Amino acid sequence: MEFSSKLLEQAVNEMAQLPGIGKRTALRLVLHLLRQPQEQTRFLTEALTQMREQMKFCTSCHTLSDVEVCSICSNPARNHHVICVVEDVRDVMAIENTQQFKGIYHVLGGKISPIDGIGPSQLHIASLVEKVKTTAVEEVIFALSSTMEGDTTNFYIYKQIQDTGVKTSTIARGIAVGDELEYADEVTLGRSILHRIPFENSLKNN
Ligand SMILES: [Zn+2]
Repeated sequence: MEFSSKLLEQAVNEMAQLPGIGKRTALRLVLHLLRQPQEQTRFLTEALTQMREQMKFCTSCHTLSDVEVCSICSNPARNHHVICVVEDVRDVMAIENTQQFKGIYHVLGGKISPIDGIGPSQLHIASLVEKVKTTAVEEVIFALSSTMEGDTTNFYIYKQIQDTGVKTSTIARGIAVGDELEYADEVTLGRSILHRIPFENSLKNN
């Protein structure tokens, strides 16, 4: 791609770093911004810079948060005895959208995947086990994807907390979960949370 302007080339190259954005799309977006009022670009860059510089992870559940303890963890109306284990913040958002879950979350930050070199120590598993062992947790709900990595992760955590006697359950299989959790329709996802099954039963089915 030949550019008539160094400034244009620089902006396109940066935009094209984003996933799914090729150089042609990057050029279209950059030209669009040039046609908009200057402040539009300023709002965009300020929002991105602020997000990048000020975003925190909740010290309790590890989800993205503006403050030390997120609005879910700090909400006394939530049931702090029920923890839903998810992979990332998109899953929290998807489940929150169903309005069917009143407990709290624990965001692992990924799944155990030896192929990708991701072991349990790279995920927020230890803090979950600690929480189960030291606070009055009654139930842990696994809401990871039903992939091999998801199953491995569930089972690993299950083994760690099995002897605490805490109830473990998993959201009903056969619906889109995990990678697709954010795309599952709210009614289906909400129903699968309400009709969750004991984790031990899901093991027998495999
Ligand atoms: Zn939190």
